[in-house]
Amino acid sequence: MVQTKLINNGSDQSCKKCPLHQTRNTIVWHRCTADKDVDALFIGEAPGKDEDLQGRPFVGRAGKLLDKWIEEIGLINYSIINVVKCRPPNNRKPNSNEIKACLPYLIKQIQQFNPKIIVALGATPCSVLINRKEVVPNIGKIFKTRYGDIMVFPHPAYVLRGVDVKIPITELQDILGCKKMEVKDEEKSHT
Ligand code: URA
Repeated sequence: MVQTKLINNGSDQSCKKCPLHQTRNTIVWHRCTADKDVDALFIGEAPGKDEDLQGRPFVGRAGKLLDKWIEEIGLINYSIINVVKCRPPNNRKPNSNEIKACLPYLIKQIQQFNPKIIVALGATPCSVLINRKEVVPNIGKIFKTRYGDIMVFPHPAYVLRGVDVKIPITELQDILGCKKMEVKDEEKSHT
């Protein structure tokens, strides 16, 4: 597993553009293995409790599953961010004012990481970036947008609820030309 380096873990903790600054512990910017020209930029919804405490996105249970997918894809250069950078109280969905206030940061991050492909994790990035409310029928599809090419993935927290949904690992590998992971014989016998 490639360890994600903390490259500028978002030293700017001063934003007060929306009321979420009153309840957050930290602004959660990104975790990444490279600070520009990444192969894939994963975009989630907003930090949860663990992320708010640690200042890094996707470090809880959903993050562990996302890391597993990334390893399976064989990605080396990638970054992980959220649409909204501060934790909404009780992990509620960010509202449209919070999303609007954070949008300039999101656009700046997309420009900074300059990814070959953006991976939209679940409903919030789908509605913000490709204007689609439905996730499941769009999983694995690529949308050409002003932000670049975007592939839809389910949100890992959704998958953790036990929903049977496709994870488009091979589709992303095909686009990025990643080496397919070989399953060793002894691993096969355990599956
Ligand atoms: N869910 C998200 O969308 N983002 C995180 O950082 C953690 C969980």
